[in-house]
Amino acid sequence: QYLEQLEAAEPQVLSFITVAAESARAAARQLDDRIAREGTSGLEPLAGVPLGIKDTLCTAGMETTAGARVLKGYIPSYDATAVARLKAAGAILVGKTNCDAFAMGSTTESSDYQVTRNPWDLERVPGGSSGGSAAAVAAEQCVGTLGSDTGGSIRQPAHFCGVVGIKPTYGRVSRSGLIAYGSSLDCVGPLARIVEDAALMLSAIAGGDDMDATSSPRPVQDYAEGLPQASSLNSRPLAGKRIGIIKETIGAGVAAGVSAAFARAARHLESLGADVDEVSLPSSDAGLPAYYVIATSEASSNLSRFDGVRYGLHKQGANIRELYNETRGEGLNAEVKRRILMGTYALSAGYYDAYYKRAQQVRTLVQREMYAALAEHDALISPAAPTAAYRIGQVNSDPLEMYKGDLMTVNLNLAGLPAMVVPCGFEVGGGSRGQPLPVGLQIIGRAFGEADMISLGHIFE
Ligand code: GLN
Repeated sequence: QYLEQLEAAEPQVLSFITVAAESARAAARQLDDRIAREGTSGLEPLAGVPLGIKDTLCTAGMETTAGARVLKGYIPSYDATAVARLKAAGAILVGKTNCDAFAMGSTTESSDYQVTRNPWDLERVPGGSSGGSAAAVAAEQCVGTLGSDTGGSIRQPAHFCGVVGIKPTYGRVSRSGLIAYGSSLDCVGPLARIVEDAALMLSAIAGGDDMDATSSPRPVQDYAEGLPQASSLNSRPLAGKRIGIIKETIGAGVAAGVSAAFARAARHLESLGADVDEVSLPSSDAGLPAYYVIATSEASSNLSRFDGVRYGLHKQGANIRELYNETRGEGLNAEVKRRILMGTYALSAGYYDAYYKRAQQVRTLVQREMYAALAEHDALISPAAPTAAYRIGQVNSDPLEMYKGDLMTVNLNLAGLPAMVVPCGFEVGGGSRGQPLPVGLQIIGRAFGEADMISLGHIFE
């Protein structure tokens, strides 16, 4: 049923780089046979659930391109840990979702394969970089997807497409098999239509991993267990909870439709008994440039492995230098090159103190302010992005304008904290033909406080 919907929607939405219909049908038939033989007891928690995987995550035997031309034809020999854990939990992979090349972007227009459309308004982008993952869920092409989030790439597309997206605490989910962008920022997490589905997926993928030294060995909670059922909610379930609105993320520069939906969401939390106040994080604005220095610096190092020898595209050259130049010249797009150049510049000897070191200092400030705010609050909230979904072509030609849209999300990656986006309303009449455009609320939890954050998000269903 999902494959039928996937195939019907795909020509308009273009969420997938690879569709694995045959292997998915075979896996589903195998499961049917097993249920006929053994019944449904003893089934894995995600048995038979059709999922899509962002193309930045390696899948054994299935082409993995990270949305980049240089990796066309690359077939990994192993599964990313998060993918292996979903498979072990019984999930069926339906394909690989489109993304900005190497997850660099906020619209998915920087993919070297296709421009994914926002299912709510086909003239708009689904966000990025996990735009294919968000669009596939919104168009009901599968139940859930994995995304990766370096500076907002799970949360902003969730907001643009009206779905749930969770960026876990740094280290909660193994990065093994994730094609690295900014290694100190990268997080793997789920997107789904409802909070409970995202929570089930997170429970399956979280946990320590010998293949990633930065993964945390802390025990994993069952994030879906005990999610309050709507019917069992008393009238003030949030009594005693303190929730802080990040002051720097509201006000000037936020579109009216986004502000209005956010204000309603904050009032809703208040009406359920929460104590909601504003909290100022004065270093917030400095986080955005610091993020773009750190992310591009790490990317310039991580992407040196795409040299035409080890993976994917391989161009001939009279000597090794020419081979590199030809391969990288053709295989990496303008946005990827821009970022490699920025990062290389920031790391070069004469500029290191002025840029990279300074950005690391800002990162520490941002982190301290966030931790201080979370010592006094159970959670922080903000809009997920300043506007609802952009029109195709609206920001892609103006990198600075596009980078500014990441203001509300990047600081959580700098701080390593968990954050999720839940749909909280619409910008009425915001679409190209007067359609409603979805708006999401960002909820920020304490480090490894995913369970509390998720139950707060669940209130919005
Ligand atoms: N839009 C941000 C960037 O381009 C975030 C991307 C991401 O989280 N992968 O860097």
